Amino acid sequence: MISYKSEEEIELIRQSSLLVGKTLAEVARIIRPGIKTIELDKVAETFIRDHKAKPAFKGYNGFPYTLCISVNDVVVHGFPGDQELKEGDLVSVDCGTLLNGFYGDSAYTFAVGELDEEKRLLMERTKESLYRGIKVAKAGNRIGNIGYEVQSYVESFGYSVVRDLVGHGIGRNLHESPEVPNYGKRGDGIMLRQGLVICIEPMINLGVRQVTQDRDGWTIRTADGKPSAHYEHQIAIIKGEPTILSSFDEIEEVLKEKVVAAA
Ligand code: MG
Ligand code: MG
Repeated sequence: MISYKSEEEIELIRQSSLLVGKTLAEVARIIRPGIKTIELDKVAETFIRDHKAKPAFKGYNGFPYTLCISVNDVVVHGFPGDQELKEGDLVSVDCGTLLNGFYGDSAYTFAVGELDEEKRLLMERTKESLYRGIKVAKAGNRIGNIGYEVQSYVESFGYSVVRDLVGHGIGRNLHESPEVPNYGKRGDGIMLRQGLVICIEPMINLGVRQVTQDRDGWTIRTADGKPSAHYEHQIAIIKGEPTILSSFDEIEEVLKEKVVAAA
């Protein structure tokens, strides 16, 4: 069962989703070589609680942290910890909030210092694939159109799409129907319509699409050990058109300021 949202509900979801973007901007401010990933998690948790919201992932099916921090070959669901980030790491940070009864969920992949060309392009193209998917999330299209756009774009570079994990509906629950695969055929799956709120989140691997899970029951890695990138926006279909509820604006503002400061 899909729960379609009213415009009032979508506004509340937007508030939660915007808080995720602001939280990820706090992460952007401090992410650098030498920082422990648990430090990023603490900053995010404090920031979310200071804004009268709850970290949505903490305790979700037993997940122990505020952020999923996934470094290099970790695709998603990585645990923050004492691991120090180093120059050249590619780091996906996924964050969720619960505010006024509604969930926000968004993810961004960060470069730690300078990345090699291969990783930099993987990041850029994964982000571009997200926007290509969003563009076709219109009323009258089907869910498969989104996956088709993501898949055809990234596969043109020889990358692969993770199949075992997908995007999702969201609202009063963190994960709702429908599933939103990042692969598929145009015209397949449910028809998109007014009030649908979904997270589109391509997880794109440099090498093979197969993944493995660590013994911690969470951490998902690429089977071949090559890097993976992940971006996620939360969108709603309003007046037939895809509307992005989350925002990367604050994150990218902070990243730009850091480049200027370093120059
Ligand atoms: Mg999600
Ligand atoms: Mg997420």
